[in-house]
Amino acid sequence: MELSFILNELGEDRENYFNAVSPPIVQSSNFAFKTVADLKQAMADEFDACLYSRGQNPTLDILRKKLAALDGAEDALVFSSGIAAISVPLLSLLKTGDHIIAVENPYSWTQKLFKSFLPKFGISTTFIDGTDFSNFENAVVPETRLIFLESPNTFSYELQDIKKVASFAKSRGIITIIDNSYCSPIYQQPYMLGIDLVAQSATKYIGGHSDIVAGVLTGSKELIRKIFDHEFMNIGPAVSPHSAWLLLRGLRTLPLRIQRSFESTKIITEWLSDHEAIQHVIWPFLTDFKQAQLVQEQMQGCGGLFSFTLKNSSLKKIETFCNNLQHILLAVSWGGHESLVVPSVASLTEDQYETTNERHQLIRMYVGLEEPQYLINDLRQALEKI
Ligand SMILES: *Cc1c(COP(=O)(O)O)cnc(C)c1O
Repeated sequence: MELSFILNELGEDRENYFNAVSPPIVQSSNFAFKTVADLKQAMADEFDACLYSRGQNPTLDILRKKLAALDGAEDALVFSSGIAAISVPLLSLLKTGDHIIAVENPYSWTQKLFKSFLPKFGISTTFIDGTDFSNFENAVVPETRLIFLESPNTFSYELQDIKKVASFAKSRGIITIIDNSYCSPIYQQPYMLGIDLVAQSATKYIGGHSDIVAGVLTGSKELIRKIFDHEFMNIGPAVSPHSAWLLLRGLRTLPLRIQRSFESTKIITEWLSDHEAIQHVIWPFLTDFKQAQLVQEQMQGCGGLFSFTLKNSSLKKIETFCNNLQHILLAVSWGGHESLVVPSVASLTEDQYETTNERHQLIRMYVGLEEPQYLINDLRQALEKI
């Protein structure tokens, strides 16, 4: 399906709402029926009917169709956060005694899910370095039920060979799920590479304006329906019709925004790489990136998230640099209109910081929609202060 058709037409039935170009926000918790028979039918199958907005809603329905098509998947669920789009399917697919193989250092709350939350239900996780495929084969035990990927990682950008892991998992009857927030469906479609479930934080590129928290999960109709019928309806992580509408609006400009970020990041990472105060810049589309070959094989591009380290880095230097930025904001998250930095040390105590550990020295930057030169000027003056 063509991208322009998905973003501008798919799922939209304008004749049903006064030929309005922008779909209405159907701000209603429930829906009425003419006959008991109609009501009965909707109650028997909430997945395919608008009965009550914890399940389906007409504004949400348009969004679901577009999101599924963007991933090349059969269906989609929308959640009130990205982390719900990860935790709810896991709660649905796993039971006591099951084992997960996960890439090491995933998104912080995904890590807490594996390390603190799932063990309460007797579900264990082995973390592996996913850059080496043999680590997946070696970590499998008879209880392994699920493999969790995040490619690339959103702080240090390690990739996994998605196609290879997906086909290995299929041959063993293991379900695969990937966090695809970094690339968005514009630049990577893991479902098309054989992954069963694709999760992403829609708070990032899909929302795109730093004004909404939401998540997306796509997959086969069968798996999505299974998750909807039980855990989705029981846990209750649905988005409001207004949030669904904001996400629809975000989708209209998604390709433009992410492409702008991608192009500005090329300029900024090259400028930083040449700067005398910079030690190392990590971004999948730099020529010296460790897994450059795999990037070419499975990513069509990427957005504006990268990391770098300072020469002769120290806690003090990192803090001085960050505190002196005038326009680039010091904040978590990414994917909006505004550029941001967050240093790794923000999540470390002073005695946890190891001077020789590159991970601890990383400063992550997200390049928003500003003029690249405006951002370079800000980086330059802050680097001069150290
Ligand atoms: C932000 C983020 C999440 C969580 O999404 P929320 O919408 O904040 O719940 C998950 N994975 C990655 C990679 C993220 O950056």
